[in-house]
Amino acid sequence: MIQDIKPRALQNQYKHMDATPESYLVYFEGRKILCLEGPVLRLPRFKDLESTNNHLYNHDIYLFSVDEKHYFLAYDIHYQKIPGYQMVDIQTFISSSKPHKGFAAVTAFQLYNWYDRHRYCGRCGHVFKHSDKERMLYCEKCDNMEYPKLAPAVIVGIRNNDKLLLTKYRDRSHTKYALVAGFAEIGETIEETVAREVMEEVGLKIKNLKYYKSQPWGLTDTLLMGFYADLDGDDTITLDEEELAVGEWVHREDIEDDYSRMSLTGEMIQAFKDERK
Ligand SMILES: [Zn+2]
Repeated sequence: MIQDIKPRALQNQYKHMDATPESYLVYFEGRKILCLEGPVLRLPRFKDLESTNNHLYNHDIYLFSVDEKHYFLAYDIHYQKIPGYQMVDIQTFISSSKPHKGFAAVTAFQLYNWYDRHRYCGRCGHVFKHSDKERMLYCEKCDNMEYPKLAPAVIVGIRNNDKLLLTKYRDRSHTKYALVAGFAEIGETIEETVAREVMEEVGLKIKNLKYYKSQPWGLTDTLLMGFYADLDGDDTITLDEEELAVGEWVHREDIEDDYSRMSLTGEMIQAFKDERK
């Protein structure tokens, strides 16, 4: 999956640290990230952009490290006059760079979005200050504090003996099969989220809920939790047609063999297919 970058390791605890010429520079404009062209897309280092950016070391934010390599978020970067640079969609970067760079970029994207959406205090509108002790923004006027928040969500592989329930979303360009999935609501346990989403999306009851694995998914601020469960009772699917275009039982031998191991959904579909009883 996207976070599987061993033997490398993400060190995401906040440190008060200054960028050096060797540090990686992460620069976004909306969903696009600045990168160097090549057989694989690469992130620039600070030294690469020194000549065209006088302010380079003044306004950056420490994000995290991958092993001993430090990543910083930078703003207002001038790259247009240096050959070899381009802005590419974050999704393109993930699939066209080395795996640990893709994971670094998507994690940086999540932090970039958090900083971008929290420039002002949500309570009184005053400009937020950055804590230099932890990943926290605070308001000097009303003492409000803001920490990064995640949206917990579930993915459920519903089994019916040798069949798995596969779905396709309505109104999405993504046409591959997916699994039942949804966000936790305030006030419910994650087990209740699973049961509710399964009932809402496909109208089925489940039993024998078993946790599989989790995945950080930075494009949507999500922490995904994957479960398998067995069908309990009637196998008649009642589709939530506002959300889904397709929901059907697919025998493991009929599942296509090309699911991306980058995503938890892909890995779970593939793992069910590969299972031999
Ligand atoms: Zn405030």
